[in-house]
Order: sequence, then C-alpha cells, then structure tokens
Amino acid sequence: MPVVIERSDWGAQPPNTPWTTHYPKKITIHHTGGRTSGYWQGATTMRAIQDGHIKPTSQGGRGWKDIGYHYVIGPDTSIWRGRPEDKVGAHVRNNNTGNVGISVYGNYNQEDIRQDVYATLVELIADIASRYNIPTQMIFLHRQLQSTDCPGSNLAIRINQIRKDVADVLAGGSAVHAAPVPVAASPAAPVPAPVHHTTVISPRITVARTKEATAAHRRSSAPCSSLRPVPPGAPALQVRRILSMSRSLR
Ligand SMILES: [Zn+2]
Repeated sequence: MPVVIERSDWGAQPPNTPWTTHYPKKITIHHTGGRTSGYWQGATTMRAIQDGHIKPTSQGGRGWKDIGYHYVIGPDTSIWRGRPEDKVGAHVRNNNTGNVGISVYGNYNQEDIRQDVYATLVELIADIASRYNIPTQMIFLHRQLQSTDCPGSNLAIRINQIRKDVADVLAGGSAVHAAPVPVAASPAAPVPAPVHHTTVISPRITVARTKEATAAHRRSSAPCSSLRPVPPGAPALQVRRILSMSRSLR
C-alpha cells in the first residue's frame, strides 16, 4: 500500500496559475536525469525540482506553473506528490492531458534501478491503474511518446517486465522480477524524511505526514529530458532501507 508524502510536507510552492483537471488514462515513466540517485536529499530535492520547473526559461528553468510530474520516487523508495493526479501535468510534450507522470529520481543511463525502487514503481503504477482502470498497455516510457532518452536505458529496458509485474499485482500477486541491483555500501548519505504518522485516505493510498526541517540549501535539479554530467564528489547512494514502513507488496 503506497505511502505518499504530500506537497505540504515537502514545502511545495502553490502553482503559479490554477491546475487544469483531467481524468487519468495513461501513465508515463520518467527519470529525473542529470544527477544520479546519490544526490537525493528528500524534501530539499523536491523543492529544487519544483524550482527548476517553475523558473522562467530566461533563467534556465522550464517556465511551467508547477512541478511537472505527478509523483517522484526517491532512491529510498519514498513516494512524493507532485501535481495531484487528477490535474494535468507537464512531463510529455503535447501529451499531458490524461497522462500521469511518475519520475524515478536518478539517472538510469548511468546507474541501474534498485530492486526495492523498482518494486515501489510497480506498486505505485498498479495503484493508479487500479483506481482509474488504466490497462497495462497504457503504461509508457517517456521515450515512447517523445524524442528523448528518458527514463534512461536501464529503466527503459524493463518496460515489458513493468507491464507484466503491474498486471500481476493487479491480479492479486506480488511478482516483481527486476534483476537485483547491488546495494552500494556508503554511510555518508542524507537520512530520509522521517514519517511520523500516516492517514488512510483511500483503500490503497496512504498519506505520510513528515516534519522534516526546512533545509537551507536548495539545489537546482535537471529536468528529465536534459542530461548533465555528474560533478566529482557526488555523495554515494544511501543504503538505508525503509522497507519496514508498510510497503510490502503483499
Ligand atoms: Zn521524462
């Protein structure tokens, strides 16, 4: 049962202009691109992604009204709310109405997806698909809808498996078949946002309330369709597992 960290919990800005309502009919998978997953800093990263999407193009941003994605999945398997899923996002050019965008934080041209992150992606897609009756054929990679390498080759190669695993979850199973990714061993990583309590808001979605202190430093984050080199000194992938917080697929 996915736990979603809400906008108020990561300090999201309100949209510049009102969102437009839509009804989800397809789901598109992205990566954030640019930086690898070791750069993840939870709420700080979410605010940086939103800043980059809202900032005017004249200042190097995208000039959108809000963060483009509906969800971002962190390398610690946390799930973060972007735009509400019943509002039109900004994540595939000329193909946003009815399209729910999920972005996995990291660069999957440069790294492989961890098995627990993959399982979280499958779980989230299955949850959305079940609530809107979206068939698995309507699960796409960004690169299938627009000229881009998003979501990276190591994630893109798994599209058929993703559809199959989502179908298995929807059928009541818990099959997740992604090849396991070795867990990097480094303690020098930020700690995930603490989850203090949860509130059930639907049969399958749970809302997490976090009280993460506002971090002072906001770092810009590359949008998924542009790649930037990873600078030296990047913090290593954190290995903290938070699978204990009710995210079993069973
Ligand atoms: Zn993308």
